[in-house]
Amino acid sequence: MNDPVDVVIIGAGASGAAVAWSLADTKMHILCLEQGGWMKPETYPSTGRDWEARAFGDYSPSPNIRARPEDYPINDDNSPIKVVNFNGVGGGTVMYAAHFRRLHPSDFRVRSLDGVADDWPIDYDALAPFFAENDRMMGVSGLAGDPAVPPSDPRMPPLPLGRSGTRLAKAMNRLGWHWWPSDTTVATVDYEGRSRCINLGHCTPACAQGAKASTDITYWPAARRAGVELRTHCRVHEITTNEQGMAAGVAYYDADGIEHFQAAEVVVLACNGVGTPRLLLNSASWRFPNGLANSSGLVGKNLMFHPYAQVYGYVDETTDSNRAPPTCLWSKEFYETDPSRGFVRGYTFQFGRGVGPVAEAVASEAKGLLPWGARHHAAFRRLNGHRLGLSAICEDLPEEHNCVTLDPVLKDSHGIPAPRGSTTGSARTRRG
Ligand SMILES: Cc1cc2nc3c(=O)[nH]c(=O)nc-3n(C[C@H](O)[C@H](O)[C@H](O)COP(=O)(O)OP(=O)(O)OC[C@H]3O[C@@H](n4cnc5c(N)ncnc54)[C@H](O)[C@@H]3O)c2cc1C
Ligand code: SF4
Repeated sequence: MNDPVDVVIIGAGASGAAVAWSLADTKMHILCLEQGGWMKPETYPSTGRDWEARAFGDYSPSPNIRARPEDYPINDDNSPIKVVNFNGVGGGTVMYAAHFRRLHPSDFRVRSLDGVADDWPIDYDALAPFFAENDRMMGVSGLAGDPAVPPSDPRMPPLPLGRSGTRLAKAMNRLGWHWWPSDTTVATVDYEGRSRCINLGHCTPACAQGAKASTDITYWPAARRAGVELRTHCRVHEITTNEQGMAAGVAYYDADGIEHFQAAEVVVLACNGVGTPRLLLNSASWRFPNGLANSSGLVGKNLMFHPYAQVYGYVDETTDSNRAPPTCLWSKEFYETDPSRGFVRGYTFQFGRGVGPVAEAVASEAKGLLPWGARHHAAFRRLNGHRLGLSAICEDLPEEHNCVTLDPVLKDSHGIPAPRGSTTGSARTRRG
């Protein structure tokens, strides 16, 4: 048995890293267990010519396609929204698009304002200092003064709009719709030991330059300097409890598959919206037959994804394609409730600069836009480097039928039951 610690954190992703860093000052013995390993930027897709192909393989956002030993499979057959994540130090931030939008004040008051779901027990103002601290730790580039959001103070200038952004912004001006250079965690100048973006444009499957902030290069170095211990390739399969019914520690498998028990005064779960309920449900015991923290029966229920609808089209002029980070501006024109639309709440528009040649070829061929034979090259030239994208990102409302349970058959590489997601979204989301 390992020596007991004061705090054990499960998961070294976005929230695990931040909580480890924020507790480090207490000088308690803090240990984080992470099922994945440290990232090796020299092996990231952007270091090789096959970077686009790898986004469909070992750097796919889908754990079911990546299928590395540290990934756990997710049965999402009954979900129109497929789960994306990344399992390793940094978690989802290794692979995120680095758009760094804050919640709006109205998001905290959806019951009072719109009569749906629940109000948060805190408001935007209570969180604002923590948003600002997180912005400083991750390093946010942007342009102050966006009239659609409360004031903030980005540390670095915004990403250049480039050809694609300028084209999209002009179109938005013609429509009279709100747009603004978006807040991103891509460094536009050297920042806290990180080099600035050099506009290669491979951000989503990880940034080898270190310009895109992921918590393995932001929070974790600071937390470890302050004494936090991080053990990688350690997969927790159960949170154990004592006679008082309080969390007493965790059982986990190490890199060699050997099982350990780690006693802790406090257990912090930071395994994201799918991994966290999976672990609570998998911690069922004679004392808690329905899983931990589940006296309400609600563990895993009310799962909220952010549904993401994407459209794209082609313009005559050349766009940025895959050069530069994929997102640089957003529109909040339809964010707040407008009863005339027939549904409450709204969505953010996120604009895309374009895609690389392989993604263009694969998608266009599948859609029948790219013929084989004599006309192939001419058609590809018209498409490649001429695409602009637009995504509407909204938030599901909490509804019990959207849930995570344990799959009775599917298991991860340690034989731990895999999560199963069952979602239909909400009627409001579909109308939006
Ligand atoms: C492709 C993609 C694009 C995205 N784009 C954006 C964006 O532009 N802007 C934005 O704000 N957000 C974006 N996100 C979402 C963002 O990355 C997540 O919301 C965020 O990382 C969630 O933080 P978390 O700490 O809850 O979980 P995660 O960051 O997912 O971390 C959970 C960690 O727990 C570990 N873990 C899980 N189970 C166990 C276990 N049993 N034992 C040990 N360790 C375990 C995992 O390995 C993982 O490292 C994106 C995500 C993806 C995948
Ligand atoms: S475009 Fe910038 S942020 Fe994106 S991968 Fe390249 S250097 Fe990193």
